[in-house]
Amino acid sequence: MDIFKQTSSLQYIISNSFGNVNNATGQAPTSYMGVLNNLQELSNTDVFISKLNIIEKLWASWYLYMNNDVLATGLLFFLTHELMYFGRCLPWMIIDRIPFFNRWKIQPTKIPSNKEQWECFKSVLKLHLLVEALPIWLFHPLCSTLKISVDVPFPSLFTMLWQIAIFFVCEDMWHYWAHRLFHVGWFYRKIHKQHHKYAAPFGLAAEYAHPVEVMSLGFGTVGFPIIYALLAKNYPEWDLPDLHLFTITTWIVLRLYQAVDSHSGYDFPWSLNHFLPFWAGAAHHDDHHHYFIGNYASSFRWFDYCLDTESGPIAKAGRERRSRQKSEKTAKKFI
Ligand SMILES: [Zn+2]
Ligand SMILES: [Zn+2]
Repeated sequence: MDIFKQTSSLQYIISNSFGNVNNATGQAPTSYMGVLNNLQELSNTDVFISKLNIIEKLWASWYLYMNNDVLATGLLFFLTHELMYFGRCLPWMIIDRIPFFNRWKIQPTKIPSNKEQWECFKSVLKLHLLVEALPIWLFHPLCSTLKISVDVPFPSLFTMLWQIAIFFVCEDMWHYWAHRLFHVGWFYRKIHKQHHKYAAPFGLAAEYAHPVEVMSLGFGTVGFPIIYALLAKNYPEWDLPDLHLFTITTWIVLRLYQAVDSHSGYDFPWSLNHFLPFWAGAAHHDDHHHYFIGNYASSFRWFDYCLDTESGPIAKAGRERRSRQKSEKTAKKFI
């Protein structure tokens, strides 16, 4: 099968050039940095390579070095997930240990203990290896089928930005409804209860959840790029620009950051939600864990606002006031 071939689909970039640069033996380089250095050298003579920016060269070098697209995409996704998730959690773990930052902690008396963080870390890592490894390894065959490109150059920044914006909005919608369903009887008891173990969340707790929850909420992150690619492939008359794997990778990293940050437990004066009022931020999701009801969306505040499911005593008092006014109006009609 074509997708399992042991050659990178990006080989064409260097097929005529390797061996000519810095390589007396005429052999292709055997290390990642060797491939990257060769691409940098070729920039001086090859017009196509000279037009690639450094991120595109880093990307192309990875696929050339791996020389197997399935392995390259699988490993890229797995490493990106692990490094970005745990890497993003690390600053929050450090901040938890520095009393200076406690003034911005949303629930200041509830600092997670080292034991809690360690137990959570082990559980999340186990979950990643068991539940998420297989779908990650199957992603490249899916990309090939859906014509998701791994080639260079990347699409324009504008195209990547509006595609990512669409994924943010769609994921938020999916997350709102799926999360709201997870708070209903059986779904809560059997699945979502695990995620609510921590009434005061911390970064690592973002993916501390039942495998079924990880898979179903994860659809919001991975499913919409797949739907987009399906539409672009099946409806060419719509002229949708093709999706690139780099766009999906960037989107997933941003979504991971959003998930970890919303569980951080800290609301700083410089947090994004103070500049973009519709951005949910940590306070929004912290209230969900604290009060248990409401604030079901992930990235934005509009769904909870419009559907009157905001968390906390202020939102609750507002709901009760509106309900009272409605009852009084109805009662007046019958007098
Ligand atoms: Zn919940
Ligand atoms: Zn949560």
